[in-house]
Amino acid sequence: MAEEKKEGLQFPIRGHDKCPHCGCAERIGQTTIADLKKEGVLEEHMFPKGPAWALPLIDQTKPLMVSPLSITKPKIPILQVFWDVCANPECLGIFVTGVEFITQEINLPKAPAGMLSGGMKQMPPGFPERLGFPFNQG
Ligand SMILES: [Zn+2]
Repeated sequence: MAEEKKEGLQFPIRGHDKCPHCGCAERIGQTTIADLKKEGVLEEHMFPKGPAWALPLIDQTKPLMVSPLSITKPKIPILQVFWDVCANPECLGIFVTGVEFITQEINLPKAPAGMLSGGMKQMPPGFPERLGFPFNQG
């Protein structure tokens, strides 16, 4: 049944523009990011869609097949959930503003060829923290 559901999904999925709980249009995440851009703490292209949560859909028990001779980088599927928090102090509801599904090339750290040739049994140290997610860049 899950497969049928996946076929029916059309990404990107548009979420709520304002709080679905109370209707408040002011969003804490969006407002805070805008303030930090004004102060120059964040560059203008950062977080174009507000706060985001990225979930790499990877099975760590399955080796990533990577050949050191390959010019293509491995790609992993990532579910991106954009969200925000209602600025109404009586509400503070968390809601989803959009959902996207992407595949992203990953940069593997340089390692001896022998380590990669048989497929990686585990993710490299620091994964997925080292992943450069595109959601926070324009
Ligand atoms: Zn609200």
